[in-house]
Amino acid sequence: MGTPQQILIVEDEPKLAALLADYLKAAGYAPRHLADGLAVIPAVRAEPPDLILLDLMLPGRDGLDICRELRGFSNVPVIMMTARVDEIDRLLGLELGADDYICKPYSPREVVARCKAVLRRLHPPEPAAAPALSIDADAWRARYHGVELDLTPVEFRLLRTLARAPGRVFSREQLLDGLYDDHRVVTDRTVDSHVKNLRRKLEQAAPGEPPIRSIYGVGYRFD
Ligand code: CA
Repeated sequence: MGTPQQILIVEDEPKLAALLADYLKAAGYAPRHLADGLAVIPAVRAEPPDLILLDLMLPGRDGLDICRELRGFSNVPVIMMTARVDEIDRLLGLELGADDYICKPYSPREVVARCKAVLRRLHPPEPAAAPALSIDADAWRARYHGVELDLTPVEFRLLRTLARAPGRVFSREQLLDGLYDDHRVVTDRTVDSHVKNLRRKLEQAAPGEPPIRSIYGVGYRFD
């Protein structure tokens, strides 16, 4: 085993922070804790953690603001924690660059599982032989498990957007943004039908569950 991965907990409720720290320690991580929003950026600059659990409502400075500034200089994965389910849609719309979102109240077990998932995504245990999906953006060509995909321009853009950030959930609006050149008016259903076609083509190229997941009530994710 190497050095334990450092997880920075930014949470102003001491009991919650202590509980999370206990669970993370038990899972083999090295947690650190900050309660003040203003302390986060300097702390990350001084000693970058492997992952940040970032509460939305904090004294000093809120999580949105912190996340925005973080993304200016760091790619450290961020899991945002918010007390309101309905906040998540708004957060996604803001394109803050967070890697995942967790709703409060959460179980510490769930938080640990999400941390593991995000870290695994970024540091896969063994290098994959060949990526299942390869996209040549200049040539507008995509191959899946070695099979050339026959995609419409819209499907190609959709796939490129999703595959650029594996694991990140995109809302339908976010996907629509990059889909057409001519800013035509389209509905959420349009995205759904393009995704459906794209999934079918991926499935035809390689049998099995296609890597585009539908996240109920939110949007889509590429796994
Ligand atoms: Ca809080």
